[in-house]
Amino acid sequence: MKADIKSLYEEELKAWISDLGEKPYRASQLFAWLHGKKAVSFDEMSNLSKELRGKLKEEAFLTGFTIRRMQESKEDGTRKYLFELADGNLIESVFMRYHHGISVCISSQAGCRMGCRFCASTLNGLSRNLTASEMLEQIYAIERDTKERVSHVVVMGSGEPFDNYENVIRFLKLISDEKGANLSIRNITVSTCGIVEKIDAFADEDIKVTLALSLHAPEQALRESLMPIARRYQLPDVIAACDRYFDRTHRRMTYEYALMNGINDSEEMAEKLSALLKGKNAHVNLIPVNPVEERDFLTPDKGRIARFCKILEKNGINATMRRTAGKDIDGACGQLRSRILRET
Ligand code: SAH
Repeated sequence: MKADIKSLYEEELKAWISDLGEKPYRASQLFAWLHGKKAVSFDEMSNLSKELRGKLKEEAFLTGFTIRRMQESKEDGTRKYLFELADGNLIESVFMRYHHGISVCISSQAGCRMGCRFCASTLNGLSRNLTASEMLEQIYAIERDTKERVSHVVVMGSGEPFDNYENVIRFLKLISDEKGANLSIRNITVSTCGIVEKIDAFADEDIKVTLALSLHAPEQALRESLMPIARRYQLPDVIAACDRYFDRTHRRMTYEYALMNGINDSEEMAEKLSALLKGKNAHVNLIPVNPVEERDFLTPDKGRIARFCKILEKNGINATMRRTAGKDIDGACGQLRSRILRET
């Protein structure tokens, strides 16, 4: 089997290329081609001999995608990409322009097995984990297509990153490698539905990204009814793990809360959410739920949202409303993929 060299650290690449009978410094050149210049072919690697390029072609492959579809929002320029992987799997990534730079939202799995009731990514279950190179390539492919430099990455597309833990760690180390894409770790956010032992392991990795917890409910019973994973981890245990993450990394936690009409947007819930997070160095990201055809959750009206925000504010909870980007382009996680899977 050919080697997935785009998923290898420079040190691993050195060992691999030595096994091919080459000098280790060739690995540094190769690494720079893969992650610095983001090469799409061996032929463009002009400082490697023709002979070595031939050898590489025989022994390795370069992860690459075809763009199956691209939808650009007329409202805000947000782009949603549907990529086809080498094995035919489809994944989505989103390109967003902000005042602070360019942000890409990547998928960590093809599909998802977490089963959140409001989410489209999980409708067809988990197809498979993505490799580190497939996570990187979502960013590289978008940079090539848009000719823009990506500054921020959010691992908030389809999939549960901590259900694909090893590959996600590998991805984070590669994307932030200064000899490679050199993305600032401070500009990366990883979002999880709350797998406690993985949150703790992640804190121990010493990769200081922003961690976002998909909370969506301030109490156990309601959270369980929305997110099957909550049956496995009690809410106080999840929050305690997030507190430990903050203690270890000093990165302010983000709590995501998708407002669903008549479900989790009452005054009572706003008070409970405030009590849960009171005194924490935390930020609440409110997201009006993106209605998914197969699900019957609706976005609350402006008045209800404003009332919810006001209560958080009164209680001194730091909260912002997420900009809803790309509503006209199947913006929510997994929407485009599930629509195309249905059509084909
Ligand atoms: N599995 C991870 C990351 C992917 S989902 C997680 O659960 O955090 C990224 C965020 O979008 C999560 O907070 C998720 O709950 C939320 N989300 C999923 N479907 C949504 C929808 N229809 N409307 C609004 N937010 C949604």
